[in-house]
Amino acid sequence: MVEIDRYLSARAGLLKASQVRELLKWIGKDVISLGGGVPDPASFPMGEIKLIVAEILEEKGAAALQYAPTEGIDELRGEIARFMTKRGLKAKAENVLVTSGSQEALELIARVFIDPGDLIVSENPTYLGALQAFNVYEPRMVGIPMDEEGLRVDALERELRRIESVSERVKLAYLIPTCQNPTGRTASLERRKTLLELVEVHDFLVVEDDPYSYFYLDGVEPPSLKSMDASGRVIYVSTVSKILAPGLRIGWVVAEEEIIEKLAIAKQGVTLQPPTLSMYVLLEALKRGLVDRQIPKLKEIYRVRRDTMLEALETYMPVGVKWTRPSGGMFVWIETPESVDMDELLPIALTEYKVAYVPGSSFHVDGSGRNTARLSFSYPPLNAMREGVARLAKLIAERAALRAEPVRN
Ligand SMILES: *Cc1c(COP(=O)(O)O)cnc(C)c1O
Repeated sequence: MVEIDRYLSARAGLLKASQVRELLKWIGKDVISLGGGVPDPASFPMGEIKLIVAEILEEKGAAALQYAPTEGIDELRGEIARFMTKRGLKAKAENVLVTSGSQEALELIARVFIDPGDLIVSENPTYLGALQAFNVYEPRMVGIPMDEEGLRVDALERELRRIESVSERVKLAYLIPTCQNPTGRTASLERRKTLLELVEVHDFLVVEDDPYSYFYLDGVEPPSLKSMDASGRVIYVSTVSKILAPGLRIGWVVAEEEIIEKLAIAKQGVTLQPPTLSMYVLLEALKRGLVDRQIPKLKEIYRVRRDTMLEALETYMPVGVKWTRPSGGMFVWIETPESVDMDELLPIALTEYKVAYVPGSSFHVDGSGRNTARLSFSYPPLNAMREGVARLAKLIAERAALRAEPVRN
């Protein structure tokens, strides 16, 4: 057999498999998964989508199975712009690029904006999928710590000054300000304002990734950064993956027209266009108000799920383990005592304790956080979720006790 490694590009050497995608393989093998952020299938509006698909094929089947424009079909760009405007983010069709999920948007942004060595700031920890998309383009990632109010803007400012003091500059910030993945935290309005001031003063762009603000659970969500963006520096990214169905593979970018045009050219070489049938499905779902009707239902589903997980953590976790209280989204972030290495525990958790989680180090831009983990409350049935937390708690407690013991010969 030919040895393929000898032919690989240097870039292929930078490709790293996602630990989350690997974990998805364990779902259903009597392992309770608190791993991937897989939406609750009970949230899929199966009946209505079935009707929509049948009608589309009946009435405009030829168009729905045909090639379509790279930017997405015009009518859908307009509907997404209206949907965004209703949510407080004023947009026109020309400001919208439809993508194959927001993952593609991240890839296109990386292609268009990142040169090797460019400095990119992000929350630390941050979304694994973004790190995967960016790393291939060889930026230097700078992680900024968070607290309960989101990104620590004071730490960001210090870092920006330090970077400028050595005659360098940050080009881009990648942020998830609302119901962050992996921590579930939301940046306060004050923090958002300060952040946008820093963006102006220090002259960089922001990628705002927003899959979760639709089911923010603690009252009225703070406005998106994009809605507060006076100078066109924010590139907003969202998706139907968490509000309708991830299998449609539809996301979108809202940005200045100039940016949309660049991204669209990059897209021609990547996926050519978003999936046409999915675009027609989303168009109808938006026009019929299906997406709007989904949102309160999702809030109910995920509120119960979040609260169940928080209760289970409260009940089972040993002293010394801390966790976030997410304002929405799908994840709780836990921190164990320093002596417990969650990377090391994963194989034991999967094989002996039959529970999956994602080790926190994968979300850190600097490989730190080995005593952290992300637990997803989006997918398992409630009883299984409680049981999963109990199993994990038992493993952590045993490990912490073991490590706390002095070594004896
Ligand atoms: C789930 C998620 C996405 C969604 O990706 P798609 O490609 O649209 O399915 C994007 N960003 C973050 C932070 C997510 O958690």
